Amino acid sequence: MCEYEEFIFSCGCSQKRLNSYCHLARNDLNHQCFSIKKLRHVWEQQTECKSCIAKRSSYTVPNQQGAFASGSWQQQQQHAQYR
Ligand SMILES: [Zn+2]
Ligand SMILES: [Zn+2]
Repeated sequence: MCEYEEFIFSCGCSQKRLNSYCHLARNDLNHQCFSIKKLRHVWEQQTECKSCIAKRSSYTVPNQQGAFASGSWQQQQQHAQYR
């Protein structure tokens, strides 16, 4: 199974980051993993997440944490593939 760590921000959002691939994902062309994902660490952050900071500096919108959380989850996964 692949190992992930999660950052929990003071705004309540969380972001997952890939820590290491399992050999299944490593051997897959797109590094997709079809087995269990294991959360290795959870880091509590004293700051707000980037999207909340960006959101607040531009305009105020209703709470859309769910949408943002799933969006950043995708970004993190894609980002991790380039390592
Ligand atoms: Zn895996
Ligand atoms: Zn946030």
